[in-house]
Amino acid sequence: MFKFLSSEPLHQPLDAPTPVDETTIKCTTCYMCACRCGIRVHLREGEDGPEVRYIDGNPNHPLNQGVICAKGASGIMKQKSPARLTQPLLRKAGSARGAAEFEAISWERAYELLTTRLAHIRATDPKKFALFTGRDQMQALTGLFARQFGTPNYAAHGGFCSVNMAAGMIYSVGGSFWEFGGPDLERAKVFVMIGTAEDHHSNPMKIAISKFKREGGRFISINPVRTGYSAIADEWIPIKPGTDGALLMALLHELIRTDTLDHAFLKRFTNAPQLVVLDEGVREGLFAFDPNPEKGPPGDGRNPHNKLIFDKASGTVLNAYPEGIADGCDPALEGHYTLADGTRVAPSFQLLRDRVASCTPAWAAAITGIAAERIVALAQEMGHAALQQAFELPVPWTDAWGKVHPTTQARPLAFHAMRGLAAHSNGFQTVRALAVLMSVLGTIDAPGGFRHKAPYPRHIVPNYRAFNSPEMIQPNTPLNAAPLGFPAHPDELAINPDGSPIRIDHAFSWEHPLSAHGMMHNVITNATRGDPYRIDTLLMFMANMAWNSTMNTMAIREMLNRKDEQDEFMIPFVVVCDAFQSETVAFADLVLPDTTYLERHDVMGMLDRPISEFDGPVDSVRVPVVKPLGECKPFQEVLIELAGRLKFPAFTTAEGGRKFTGYPDFVVNFQPQPGIGFLMGWRGKNGDEHLRGEPNPKQWEAYEQNNCVFQYHMPKTMHYMRNWNREYLDFAKEKGWRQKNDPVQLAIYSDTLQAFRLAAQGKTEGRQPPEHLRERIDTYFDPLPFWYAPLEDAATDLGSYPLNAITQRPMAMYHSWDSQNAWLRQMHSHNYLNVNPRTALAAGIADGGWAWVESQWGKVRCMVRHSEAVEPGTVWTWNAIGKADGAWQLAPGSDEARKGFLLNHLISEELPMRGTPSGMVSNSDPITGQAGWYDVRVRIRPASPDEAGETFPQMDSMPAVPGVVGKAAQVLRYFAGGKKS
Ligand code: SF4
Repeated sequence: MFKFLSSEPLHQPLDAPTPVDETTIKCTTCYMCACRCGIRVHLREGEDGPEVRYIDGNPNHPLNQGVICAKGASGIMKQKSPARLTQPLLRKAGSARGAAEFEAISWERAYELLTTRLAHIRATDPKKFALFTGRDQMQALTGLFARQFGTPNYAAHGGFCSVNMAAGMIYSVGGSFWEFGGPDLERAKVFVMIGTAEDHHSNPMKIAISKFKREGGRFISINPVRTGYSAIADEWIPIKPGTDGALLMALLHELIRTDTLDHAFLKRFTNAPQLVVLDEGVREGLFAFDPNPEKGPPGDGRNPHNKLIFDKASGTVLNAYPEGIADGCDPALEGHYTLADGTRVAPSFQLLRDRVASCTPAWAAAITGIAAERIVALAQEMGHAALQQAFELPVPWTDAWGKVHPTTQARPLAFHAMRGLAAHSNGFQTVRALAVLMSVLGTIDAPGGFRHKAPYPRHIVPNYRAFNSPEMIQPNTPLNAAPLGFPAHPDELAINPDGSPIRIDHAFSWEHPLSAHGMMHNVITNATRGDPYRIDTLLMFMANMAWNSTMNTMAIREMLNRKDEQDEFMIPFVVVCDAFQSETVAFADLVLPDTTYLERHDVMGMLDRPISEFDGPVDSVRVPVVKPLGECKPFQEVLIELAGRLKFPAFTTAEGGRKFTGYPDFVVNFQPQPGIGFLMGWRGKNGDEHLRGEPNPKQWEAYEQNNCVFQYHMPKTMHYMRNWNREYLDFAKEKGWRQKNDPVQLAIYSDTLQAFRLAAQGKTEGRQPPEHLRERIDTYFDPLPFWYAPLEDAATDLGSYPLNAITQRPMAMYHSWDSQNAWLRQMHSHNYLNVNPRTALAAGIADGGWAWVESQWGKVRCMVRHSEAVEPGTVWTWNAIGKADGAWQLAPGSDEARKGFLLNHLISEELPMRGTPSGMVSNSDPITGQAGWYDVRVRIRPASPDEAGETFPQMDSMPAVPGVVGKAAQVLRYFAGGKKS
C-alpha cells in the first residue's frame, strides 16, 4: 500500500533525519519566477534515475543567500505537473485550432516540417517568419536566431511587461530598476516604492527591506492597493491608477519651489545647465552646440559633449565640457541668454522650472486623490532624506574629466518602481518624471540612492540601433542589425520609405517610435489583419497568448482560428513551444515540448539579463539536475538544431558543417566579439581568466563546481557614480560592456524626444511622420516630463465607466505558470474582484457576492470581496488565476475555471484612431508601445441569483493532448525515490 494511504505518517518529525548518503545535492538556479535565486536540489535515486526530493535556497548564492520562497520550494511540483507535455504534436488535419486535436509525431518529423517551411520562407520573404517569446531569459540567442534568419519580426515579452520602466529610465539616467539597477537599502534612510507588486525582485528585495526596516529605515509605498510590500510599509499612500506622473510632477514642483535641490550634482553630472535653443526653426528645442568641429561632433542623440552653458562667474557662454565644469566656473541653471550669433537660449533646467510651475500640489491632488498637504510633506521628507541626512563615504573616485573626489557623496533616499508606473499609456513620461526627480536630488548611483548594476549604465541613448533598413530584408541573408535596439533619431525608425511599419507588430514605427522591446501584444491582431502584410509562420515560445498574456482574449482566440476566402488560416502556421498544456497549445499547428528549468542548461549572462549586484557583475547558469521527461527538448537546443539545418552563417563552418554540437557548446564557444561570450567566469583555455578571455572548453564544469554562479567584485573606487567614474568607464569598455568610455550625463531634458517632435512639426528635412500621426508625436514626444491622462480615458465615457480596474500578481504564483502546481494552487485556486466596501455596497454587491464587471470592450462575471485595502475608485484582482476549463490539465470544473476569472476580457488591445489603415492603433504608450494594461475603466453591478455560481465567460473544456502527463492525483502520492507500484 502507498504510504500516503496508510495510517502511518509520511514523515516522523522525531526520527533521525534521512541519512545524508541517501540524497545527493545539485546546485542550479531557480526559475519559478524571474528573480533567479540560487537553489540546491536534493535528489534521491528512483527507478528511472534521480528524482527531486526537495529544493532549498543556496546559502552560498549572492542573490538570495539561502532564502527561498513558496514558489521556489514548490518547484518539485512543477516537475511533477500533470500538465507536462512529453511529445511533439501536430494538429490533426481538418480540426479547428482551439479544439486541441493532435497526433503525436517524432522530433525528426517536427524538424523536417519546420526546416522545410522555414527554409522556403527564408529563401523567399524572410519577414513572413515571426518569432515572439514570452518570459524567457535567452534573448541573446533568440534575437540572434531572428537576425540570422533575416526577419525583423522578433521580440520578447518586454513590450507588454515593463518597457516603459526600462526605456523611461535608460533614456534619462542610463540604467533601470531590477536587473540593471535598484535601491541601495543598505544605506538609504527613506525608501519610496511606487507601483510595485510583490513579485519583482522578490527574494532579494524582501531580504533588503527586512534589514532596512530592522535598522530603522522608513518605508513608504505608493500604490492603489495595499497588498504585498504595501502591507508592510510604514505608510501606504493610495493613488488613483495612471496618475503617478501627476504626483511626481507635483513633487518636482515642490522641490524646485523650495530650492531643495542638489545644485552641484545638477551642474556637473546632468544636462540641466546646457543651453536649449528657444528660437523657432530646425534647431528649436535642441541643445546649442559649439560649431568648432574640434570640440566634438554636433549632437546626434548619442553625443552630448560639445553643448554650451552660461558661466555666471565670467558672464560668458562656454563649452559644457571641460570648460564649463572647470574650477571657478558656475554654470547657470536659470535665466535666458543670447548667443553671439543672436540665438536665444535657456538652460534646460529653466525649462523644467517653467514646466512644473503649474503642477501644484493642489493640481495633483485633484488628479491623484492624494491630499495636497501630503504631497507637500512627502516632498519635504524626500528632500530631507537626500540632502539633510546626507553623509559622505570615505571612498575616493575620479570623474570622467579627471577631477579627484576624495569621498563619495551619499544621498540616502531610494526608490523602487515597476509595472504600476509602466503599464499605462502615459508610463514613459511618468517614468521620465521619476528619473528626473531622482536626479535633481542627486541620488543616481550614489550611496543610499539608486545604484546601477553591470553592464549598466549605458550611454544615453544606448549605442544599439535597431534594424531599420527595409532593403536589407533579403532572401537567405541575415539582417545587418539586431531586430531590437534604442532609436535616437527618426532616421533610425524601422519604416518603409512611405512611412509605414517594417515590422508586423508596428514597433519602431511612427506609431510607437521607441518600442525598444517590441510589441508582442499586437502581433496576432496585425498578422490576422495583414497589417502591414500577411505572415506565414508565427513561432511563440512560453507565451500564453490565447489566454492571460493577451488583451481581448476571446477575440484573439477567434483570430487564431480565422480563415481567409481561400479557406486558409490568416496566420497559416502557428508553432507553440511550451513545457505545459497551456490554453495556447490548443491553437498550435505544431507543438514543441520544452523542458523545465531543472532539466536544461540556461544562461543568465551579460549579453542578456545577468544577475549583477551593485558592487560588480554576476552571471549564473542552470544545469540539468534531472533528465528531460519523455521526449522534451530544451527550446535552446531546438533553435541551435534549426540554425544548423537552415545553415545560418553564424552557426555554420566555412566547410558548410555545423559549428556547434548543441546549446552548451554554443554558450562556451560563441563570441560576439573576441574574448566576450555568454558567460564571463572561468574563461581562457585554462579557465583562469574572468570577464574577458578565450573560450574555456570546461566552463560549464567550472560553474557547476561553483554554485552555478560567478561573481566579480570590483574595487570600491568603481562602486559609485559610474555614469562619470573614469576608472569604471574605462574598465567597462575594456570588458566589452560599453562601446565607448565617455561619461553618461543625465537627461533632465531629452533632446532625443525633441528630434522626433521637430520632425512631427515639419521643421526638419529628414523623415517626417504621416499626417495622421503628426499631432500625436508632437504632443507626446515632449523633451520634458509631463502628465497626461491615459489615452483610453479619451475613448471612454467616464461617467458610465467610473472605476479603474487593475491586476497584480500574487506572491505565490508567477504569470500563468503555477496553476498546475499542486502545492501552489492550494493558496490561489480562484480569485475575487476586490472592491472597497463603500463602492460595492453602493452597487448593491455583498461581500462574496457575484457581480458583473463591464468595460466598453467586454464583460466578466465574478465574485466580489469587500476590501479596505483599495480606494473606492479602484477595483483589482490577481492576474492569471482564472483558467480555461481543462487547460493545464486541471480537472474539468476546477475552481480555476469555474470561480476564477481573467480581467483581460475587459481590455482592448487597440483603440480607435483616424488615419491608420485599420482605423485602430495599439492600446499602448505612444512613445514606447508599452501595453496599457492598467488603463481600462469599468463599472460593476450585481449578478442575478440565477447567474451566480460560475464566472463568465466559460470555454469548452480543453481535452488532454496526446502524451500529456495527466493524472493530477499522482502528485499527491509522489515520493522521491519511491518504487513504482
Ligand atoms: S523569488 Fe522564489 S520563485 Fe523567484 S527565483 Fe527566488 S526562490 Fe525562485
